[in-house]
Amino acid sequence: MTLKLHNTYSHKIEELVPSNPDGMVRMYCCGPTVYNYAHIGNLRTYIFEDVLRRTILRNGFKLTHVMNVTDVGHLTSDADEGDDKMLLAAEREKKSVLDIARKYEDTFFKHTTALNIIRPDIVCRATDHVQDMIKFVEKLEEKGYAYFSNGNVYFDTAKFPAYGMLSGQNRKDLRHGARVEEDTNKRNPSDFVLWFTSSKFKDQILQWDSKWGRGYPGWHIECSTMSMKYLGEHLDIHCGGVDHIAVHHENEIAQSEAYLGHKWCKMWLHGEFLQMKNDVKMSKSKGNFITLDTLIEKGYSPLHYRYLTLTSHYRSPLIFSYENLDAAATACNNLKAKYAEFKQAGESSVSDDDLKLYQAYLDEFNAHLNMDLHTPQAMALLWKVVKDKNLPASLKVKFMDEADTVFALDLAKIEENKATNAPVIDDAVKALVEERKAARAAKDWKKSDEIRDKLLAQGIVLKDLPNNEVEISIK
Ligand code: AMP
Ligand code: ZN
Repeated sequence: MTLKLHNTYSHKIEELVPSNPDGMVRMYCCGPTVYNYAHIGNLRTYIFEDVLRRTILRNGFKLTHVMNVTDVGHLTSDADEGDDKMLLAAEREKKSVLDIARKYEDTFFKHTTALNIIRPDIVCRATDHVQDMIKFVEKLEEKGYAYFSNGNVYFDTAKFPAYGMLSGQNRKDLRHGARVEEDTNKRNPSDFVLWFTSSKFKDQILQWDSKWGRGYPGWHIECSTMSMKYLGEHLDIHCGGVDHIAVHHENEIAQSEAYLGHKWCKMWLHGEFLQMKNDVKMSKSKGNFITLDTLIEKGYSPLHYRYLTLTSHYRSPLIFSYENLDAAATACNNLKAKYAEFKQAGESSVSDDDLKLYQAYLDEFNAHLNMDLHTPQAMALLWKVVKDKNLPASLKVKFMDEADTVFALDLAKIEENKATNAPVIDDAVKALVEERKAARAAKDWKKSDEIRDKLLAQGIVLKDLPNNEVEISIK
């Protein structure tokens, strides 16, 4: 099997071949800035990265997956202008910056765990790596890529001719700071801060000594520093959302390759945005966002949201609406109910032809994932398998278990929950459904409603379809 992924840098679909001789895939994903709750758009990006992680492992690679937690240095504009996000949050909530950071980091991992997102092998906080960042900046300065101007240290993008290659922009056209406020200390508009000392944030609580004076790091330097610390000089995959391409990731490439003197990261993968209806941007800094807790309060399971994200390709925008989420919830519940039904059907004899059919389906499933993580096609195939009358139930269960190694929808959970009185679609339930069908055929609506309510009280939901057919799902 070969795993092919879209590389933002080359604009091509490329095969994943680890750079290092040990064959280990080294992957770095930009983590959350912990000044507020992650919204479900942010979480879409982490689900995409989790699907990537699971697919890499499914292909038999060894993997080291690193993610940072930004708890210092990120300003409201990614181009180092505006206000300090952590300070704003501390003022808003009348808490210390560190209390804010830990509160939102804890909630972030609570949410990612609920979404079955596997915790990266290494999670590293920016504030724990400031000395490493200082050394990094010192080396950039020694090599002539950094300059000191009015108290701050900047990266000189004019010294890095490849600046702009990732986003396909000419460096001279880039005027990142222009929309916010021009930083007159910069030599070029696309230059960015490596170390702040003389800033407008006199009250910045988190400060460290450095040869340039007491201060704190710019946002971009943390990712290059921590990535190299834990993954070395040759990175295979770097991920983030599309908003990171033009500034943050350009800056990471410039400072890393200037530091190393050679190419740093092979493949860049970016997840498209989750959008609200009417093209409204979900924004943490503007406060108009939906969190996972909002969905849970409305009665959805986190995995209903995971299902929704799997129905679109990670490189396509996804429009969020409650109608879409309802459809995803129903489909996800039905899938679980099907799993339980097939499991209860027990072992049946399986012929060679059955096994061949199963294998063909599995190959097709892997091919969809291995072609740039095509989860919508893989999901459509899963439903085809579920509905295939020629495949024995035991092989359907096997296929669904395989699919769930990547989809991670806990398809088998209902079965496991048997001991805890979770509803199961057993023969008694099926008999009641048949009895209700007969009542409906006889236009005995009272009896039909009674049976429906009785099942609902057990956590089993019936949805009437045309021709007196019924869809059964678990609440
Ligand atoms: P932040 O905590 O703001 O640094 O963002 C965390 C991750 O979410 C980054 O990879 C962003 O690129 C990504 N992101 C931000 N907004 C969205 C969105 N609306 N949809 C998908 N991903 C997003
Ligand atoms: Zn980053």
